[in-house]
Amino acid sequence: MASPQEDNAGKSSEGSSSFEQWRRKAAWMTGLGLSAEDVKRRDEISQLQRDERDWKWCEKKKAELLHTSPAVVFMMKQLKLINCNVTADHLMCQPCHRLSAGGFSHEYGILLCQDGFRNKKHMEDTIVHELIHMYDHAKFKVDWKNLKHQACSEIRAAHLSGDCSYRREFDRGFGLRFTAQHMDCVRRRAVLSVSLNPECPDEATAVKAVNEVWDSCIKDTRPFDELY
Ligand SMILES: [Zn+2]
Repeated sequence: MASPQEDNAGKSSEGSSSFEQWRRKAAWMTGLGLSAEDVKRRDEISQLQRDERDWKWCEKKKAELLHTSPAVVFMMKQLKLINCNVTADHLMCQPCHRLSAGGFSHEYGILLCQDGFRNKKHMEDTIVHELIHMYDHAKFKVDWKNLKHQACSEIRAAHLSGDCSYRREFDRGFGLRFTAQHMDCVRRRAVLSVSLNPECPDEATAVKAVNEVWDSCIKDTRPFDELY
């Protein structure tokens, strides 16, 4: 049986090691007392931990949406029907470290910006948006360097994906959705996407490309019969 003295000694040493652990943790969190190299290392580790957490969230939600989202399941089926065998592996979760949600590359597939989603619904809309680009690429042989081609696909993707849904518009502070407002949103988003094309010199050129194809592309709701 330990004597009271030994007990005290044990507690005291445990207390000092806890204190030391807390001190190191506090220094790690606040950066106080750390060298510049340690601060850099700490920030790199924090970033890796954030990336890991975001990636796990993105992969989990992606798997759920591929099974439960009517729009995602529908688009995956439509792509198979036109011999575009897209699988979960073509939808890649990666950190983007910027204000973006996703992207489509006919060479690499679909990029899901694991750090760019506000919530699962935003991710769902983004996946449908990018699947519409994939559908257009497979069915209509889109030339992504041609601004009018891209404009048409952007109009369709914004119109059909839910990007401009009532809730989303409301969340952005644009008030209640009316048909005219939905169209304004589609137009605004299509112009923004086209203006990011390296082939596009300025916003006026993007507006012109969107205007030129607007009437025919807004009516083209394939493969959806009507807006869901
Ligand atoms: Zn797009």
